[in-house]
Amino acid sequence: MIPREERIHNLVENPEISVLIVGGGINGIGTFLDLALQGIDVVLVDRGDYCSGASAASSHMVHGGIRYLENGEFRLVREAVKERNRLLENAPHLVKPLATTFPIFRWFSGLLNAPLKFLRLIDKPAERGAIVIKLGMLLYDFYTRKQKTVPKHVFKNRATSINQFPLINPDIIFTGTYYDGSMPSPERIALELITDATFESNLAIPMNYMSVVSAKGNQVVLQDEIDRSTISVNPKIVINAGGPWIDQINKSIGLETEYIGGTKGSHIIVTNSELRDAIGENEFFFENEDGRIVLIYPLDDKVLIGTSDIQVDDPDQAIITDEEVRYFIDMVKIVFPTIDVNPSQIVFTFSGVRPLTNSRARLTSQISRDHEIKINEPDEELHFPIYSLIGGKWTTYRAFSEQICDLVLRRLGKDRIRSTKNYKIGGGKDYPSTQVERERYISILLAQSDLDREGLETLFSRYGTKVTGMLNSFDTKNDRQLQFYADLSTAEISHIVQYEDVVHLDDFIFRRTMLGKLGCITSEGLDEIGTIIGQIQGWDDARISQEIKRVIDLLKTRHRMDFNEYIEEH
Ligand SMILES: Cc1cc2nc3c(=O)[nH]c(=O)nc-3n(C[C@H](O)[C@H](O)[C@H](O)COP(=O)(O)OP(=O)(O)OC[C@H]3O[C@@H](n4cnc5c(N)ncnc54)[C@H](O)[C@@H]3O)c2cc1C
Repeated sequence: MIPREERIHNLVENPEISVLIVGGGINGIGTFLDLALQGIDVVLVDRGDYCSGASAASSHMVHGGIRYLENGEFRLVREAVKERNRLLENAPHLVKPLATTFPIFRWFSGLLNAPLKFLRLIDKPAERGAIVIKLGMLLYDFYTRKQKTVPKHVFKNRATSINQFPLINPDIIFTGTYYDGSMPSPERIALELITDATFESNLAIPMNYMSVVSAKGNQVVLQDEIDRSTISVNPKIVINAGGPWIDQINKSIGLETEYIGGTKGSHIIVTNSELRDAIGENEFFFENEDGRIVLIYPLDDKVLIGTSDIQVDDPDQAIITDEEVRYFIDMVKIVFPTIDVNPSQIVFTFSGVRPLTNSRARLTSQISRDHEIKINEPDEELHFPIYSLIGGKWTTYRAFSEQICDLVLRRLGKDRIRSTKNYKIGGGKDYPSTQVERERYISILLAQSDLDREGLETLFSRYGTKVTGMLNSFDTKNDRQLQFYADLSTAEISHIVQYEDVVHLDDFIFRRTMLGKLGCITSEGLDEIGTIIGQIQGWDDARISQEIKRVIDLLKTRHRMDFNEYIEEH
């Protein structure tokens, strides 16, 4: 990727562009790649880092959304299951099959609710019983029967379930396990899609820390969030991929819309070895009587617990509350009553707002998770059309992007020349599909590099086959392991900073790596990484301190890592 300054300079010199995408979440990024593959000149801007909005707040599931069947969203579930399978195949280094287990406490509950909810005759939630869950899982298997990317569901009786999960609530009568996908690091998938786009086309220009601030006639004004300077571009089409900020973005360019009715969802990540051992490699999914769900999800050596669904007005104010923390902990108790989860075990929290369509549904869980495109045609004030991307799931980003890209191509009078259906993402290209092939791949790397097997395995698990290219750029002579993060080396950091548009230290901590999410941040560690990145970026001491402070402030304000106070108060 060419340096940021050069990209800005090129835009100043050539402001006439076909497409401007506002918002570097997964929907903006997916559309960016698709347009790049069609050879369209396209600029993607985000006011912050890529994948730092709703796309950084997901439950990390690549899923069909089994529970949406009850709301009658068959089209969405069918599409999402297909896209789940594609992500498993196209990004095998970053998306893995995930066994998802429902603990079931009743036989019949929810049996009448489901069809009545579907027919919109009631909107009362209820805990799901064995029969409703079994029917849902059968339908889910039916949708995926041809591709066979994941195994079929299994129902286990009480004795077998307790045998497999000894700490599960003994009141269960069954467990039902089906398969979805897990993406421990959605941020890396997003980043690899961006680097793919710039690799495929030099007409694709991504720019983080660049906001849209206003527009008039055929001009859109962008503000560089680093030095506050502004530049103008003249797009033929604007795609508003601002997620929960869509209406705000439209307002800033003089368009009054009320497309979004977002709901906040929060998560906590805890270090609790008893809970981690109890779930094994299964996600647990449980819906209680009031329709609220909890998911308990294995994330590396930690456990991710979520999520809530609360109507909010301002997406910038979405942070976790004490009440949500208490709710998550109480819900874990229902599934694993003897395991003590408490706030002192929280290593990270995150919240985000689902960019759902503005809806009259009485319950937030019943607002459609499907996606749609709203088009505002050009007028005297704004001479370009604006396509606002409403809703959508992480899982379905490719299908949504394809739909948008096709509309854009039609408008520009161009034909699709490449499909993204089987497009292998980043380090998923030429990925070894069997253990034998994997071994062969690692052996070749071993023969070609100075790294040991363990180091190579770690890199391979993070970056897939991108490792081959990375190793070529490594300055192996001067490479050294970090003192506070033994599985990171200076060459790896240097590669990420140079090739992955790291502007701030927090981009590296929270989105290029999983250090922040897994609670690996210590003040010595921050100093060490800050200094290394500072050397690469040419930061002086004052800037390094500023960057470190920025990370600490974000941890406190956005991720509420102040739970010691919470414990004292309660
Ligand atoms: C709590 C929660 C759990 C979820 N769980 C899952 C899940 O497990 N699986 C799944 O498939 N989906 C899940 N989703 C849904 C999915 O994450 C979102 O639908 C998806 O990420 C939306 O992406 P987006 O690109 O539309 O929006 P965003 O990711 O929010 O991107 C919008 C971007 O616009 C930028 N922006 C705002 N204003 C401006 C401006 N003026 N100029 C430039 N840029 C601007 C923002 O910085 C932001 O990065 C979940 C969502 C939430 C919130």
